[in-house]
Amino acid sequence: MNILVINAGSSSLKFSIFDMDENRVLAEGIIERIGQDGTTCRYKKSGADEIKETVEGNDYKSALNEMVKFLLHEEYGVVRSKSEIQAIGHRVVHGGEFISKPVLIDQEIKRVIKNCFELAPLHNPPNFMGIIACEEIFAGIRQVGIFDTAFHQSIPKQAFLYGLPIEFYEHEGIRRYGFHGTSHRYVTDKCAELLSEEKDSVNIISAHLGNGCSITAVKSGKSVDTSMGFTPLEGLVMGTRCGDIDPAIVFHLMEHKGYSRDEIDRLLNKKSGLLGLAEIGTSDIRDILKAIENGNKKAEIALDVFCYRIKKYIGAYTAVVGDVQALIFTAGIGENVPVVREKVCIGLEPLGYKLDFEKNRNNETLISTDKSRSKIMVIPTHEDLKIAQDTLYVLKEAGFIKQ
Ligand code: ADP
Repeated sequence: MNILVINAGSSSLKFSIFDMDENRVLAEGIIERIGQDGTTCRYKKSGADEIKETVEGNDYKSALNEMVKFLLHEEYGVVRSKSEIQAIGHRVVHGGEFISKPVLIDQEIKRVIKNCFELAPLHNPPNFMGIIACEEIFAGIRQVGIFDTAFHQSIPKQAFLYGLPIEFYEHEGIRRYGFHGTSHRYVTDKCAELLSEEKDSVNIISAHLGNGCSITAVKSGKSVDTSMGFTPLEGLVMGTRCGDIDPAIVFHLMEHKGYSRDEIDRLLNKKSGLLGLAEIGTSDIRDILKAIENGNKKAEIALDVFCYRIKKYIGAYTAVVGDVQALIFTAGIGENVPVVREKVCIGLEPLGYKLDFEKNRNNETLISTDKSRSKIMVIPTHEDLKIAQDTLYVLKEAGFIKQ
């Protein structure tokens, strides 16, 4: 049973194909610069070297056709015909208040995705176009939507409402939606498995620290609060996003510095965070760490700000969850950077988190001491695998595949 996973972005299309009998990836790739000059595809069959080629890519349909050529290729392909792909799982960013679980894509779901264009203008339109192109190229193959916002639909009103007049929620849908849901759900389920607990009984705090960063409070397996909000801009300090700021800074910049709406957007989303604080021309944490080794003070402060914000949220979410069984670190930084986990955890001992420094330095799965009230864990995220698993689950639930 093979499932194709598609993540269609504004000018790129990521894909991976999984053999679900063995829960393993057969091949994956990314087509970049769709609709621009010089479209390329990087493709990697599992166990083989990556291939990079220039390809056709005027639109999503031609990009998907190129992907099919790779997947069916005599030498480095992984299936003999398109009919060996039994279903397609799509990553979709925003499902508003309509979607709280993975769903089979039909006309109604497509309407929902379109209705959320305004909420996620950079993501939902390409997600939608990827679905339409797949319908044409893989006619008759079932498609499932896995939404980033879905996991957070269990957040209660007291946590998802902002302190704005209620009409802005009632009429404009302005509320906390939260993102990275598939990743937080994957590590929650994985943590339950590692702790030999039921998925719907675990209490955890999950810190997804990648280019985008978010932290989620999970009670009885359900998201009860998360740091990203109406958009992914809120919450933690990220690679290039500022996270929480006083909204009045925006008026100040507009009134006194002549900033336009677009300039503010670029400033907060693309020029802030680690990139803006460290001023070394990159947001890559590895470069920030090198700069610190070389005595760069701004880089040091950038890391301090980044880690302090995470620590502050862990404190807040410990109050929200109460009896936290595990604090989880995941994604590029969470999985690979011991110094970040160390800076975050030092000082959290009174709240029940005691880091084992050596285990942390070795990137072990369990990095807390035996005395720690809550476990501290490093759990690699696998969003694409989760999308494939969810796709299979939806097909089974709908009776299209035998349980
Ligand atoms: P995205 O949010 O785009 O999925 P990732 O989860 O890959 O991003 O995280 C990107 C961040 O993780 C970057 O800051 C990068 O420096 C860091 N990162 C990724 N891999 C490593 C590694 N092996 N060692 C240290 N940092 C890493």
